[in-house]
Amino acid sequence: MAKHQFQTEVNQLLHLIIHSLYSHKEIFLRELISNSSDALDKLKYLTLTDDSFKDLSFDPRIDITFSEEGDEKTLSVSDTGIGMNQEDLVENLGTIARSGTKAFLGNLTGDSKKDSNLIGQFGVGFYSVFMVADRAEVITRKAGEETAWKWVSDGQGEFDITPAERESCGTTVTLHLGEEGSEFASRWQIEQIVKKYSNHIAFPIFLHYVKTEYDDKGKEKGSTPTEEQINSAAALWKRSKNEITAEEYNEFYKTISHDTEDPLMHLHTRAEGTMEYTTLFFVPSKAPLDMYQADYRPGVKLYVKRVFITDDEKDLMPTYLRFLRGVIDSEDLPLNVSREILQQNRMMAKIRESSVKKVLGEFVRIAQEDPQRWLSFVEHYNRPLKEGLYSDFANRETLLELVRFRSTKVEGWTSLAEYKQRMLPDQKAIYYITGDNEQTLRNSPLLEAYRKKDLEVLIMADDVDELVVPMIGTYKEVELKSVNRSDAGKDLEAEKDQEKDEALKPLLERMKTVLGDRVKDVVTSVRLADSPSCIVVDESDPTMKMAQMMKAMGQ
Ligand code: ADP
Ligand code: MG
Repeated sequence: MAKHQFQTEVNQLLHLIIHSLYSHKEIFLRELISNSSDALDKLKYLTLTDDSFKDLSFDPRIDITFSEEGDEKTLSVSDTGIGMNQEDLVENLGTIARSGTKAFLGNLTGDSKKDSNLIGQFGVGFYSVFMVADRAEVITRKAGEETAWKWVSDGQGEFDITPAERESCGTTVTLHLGEEGSEFASRWQIEQIVKKYSNHIAFPIFLHYVKTEYDDKGKEKGSTPTEEQINSAAALWKRSKNEITAEEYNEFYKTISHDTEDPLMHLHTRAEGTMEYTTLFFVPSKAPLDMYQADYRPGVKLYVKRVFITDDEKDLMPTYLRFLRGVIDSEDLPLNVSREILQQNRMMAKIRESSVKKVLGEFVRIAQEDPQRWLSFVEHYNRPLKEGLYSDFANRETLLELVRFRSTKVEGWTSLAEYKQRMLPDQKAIYYITGDNEQTLRNSPLLEAYRKKDLEVLIMADDVDELVVPMIGTYKEVELKSVNRSDAGKDLEAEKDQEKDEALKPLLERMKTVLGDRVKDVVTSVRLADSPSCIVVDESDPTMKMAQMMKAMGQ
């Protein structure tokens, strides 16, 4: 018997799962089914692309059984998927591979509803079985290998791996349900949980139970073991739009995203003609927690003719749309597309390009037809969409209609279009001020002269603004101008008073001497109304924050 220790992080995670998710114990089943589905996807792919698996008889399915013998209740989830060998077991069920899981640990809120949403996102699924099981047993055999292996653990720091028997490849996870989990050895419970979370898993899920028969007098006549398929197992995206209910879309979203809340929207489209493909995209109601991490988990899965290819390809969609969840299913791509081929594939580039157009087009439609609804998108996704202004030149015009800003003239959010409508008859530019903090910006002396002249200024306190907004240049031929810069005052058109300037010269000289190297120049200004002075950035200098950033980088 080979004893192994869990990696320290696994112990930490197990502890957290058990203590934060006890009110959502049922998700262990969703996690096991999702792993089985992944394993079936992987083997299906091999049978279609790898000659050494061509002759394998492959009957993809997931089977759930449960039993009760005396006090001992068990539940098993079995699949005919790719299976694992000894090394795989140690690696997959003994460590935490993904660095994102560290983020998971850091992001736990202690609020079990929120935490249960996180659990799937960060790939800690399997360990959730220890919420319901005193002991878990995994018997598995890897496709193409002769030996089967048994992994056993009670989730208390250690696991054992020993050789075992299994007729064909695949994995069976058997849970010895403790008191905490005894309720799950029930036909109705299992059926209900599968319907709720796994109805749209693309492989059939069979539930095995014993059917009791009665005679006409209601007396027990006998019993027969029965199996019944309990999920719909169809590729939902391949069905026609008008046959799919909103409820089904929402369920499907939850199956693929591990989210428990309904999405903000879905967009289901089919392209026919020179290229044939189907896309189904969703926008989660809340930004994915890893949205601002470099190793975020992409949410769009690629299929070729309904065969799952990858869910780990960040280039399927542009980075600024990384919050999207969904499916791309192409009829034309070759099945064995490698990552390298994908990245250079012209077809893939086309699919991506037109998918982006469609998604942004749908956003524009919502923003125009239901501005109130659009604000719930803005709340979570304004910032990534702003990144798009920087990175997606081709769609900049569209993105400019989607992003929203704070302003000196309106409460809440405003669009550039609305700003433009409010412009004064002789107003020359769209003014904005950038900085770290909205409230500080609102109190800035730089705004005084604009306020006096009734000119609206956009308040930009997002960290990307300083980088992104200067690149925009113009919106519908109106220039965007930063009030932080020294030439901005020229627009205010107030004539400088030559005589007063002459009189102030000695004062300015004196100030320059006192301030020395700390300033480039001291000049009179027409932009202030109440404050005696303010600091501005020279028109030829990078703005203040950029200057700070460059200094931090040693430049
Ligand atoms: P994730 O599924 O997000 O990777 P899990 O904790 O659910 O995280 O599973 C860990 C790993 O264990 C999986 O990535 C997979 O490699 C392996 N695994 C789990 N269940 C199975 C299974 N039924 N068949 C084959 N491999 C499995
Ligand atoms: Mg999993």
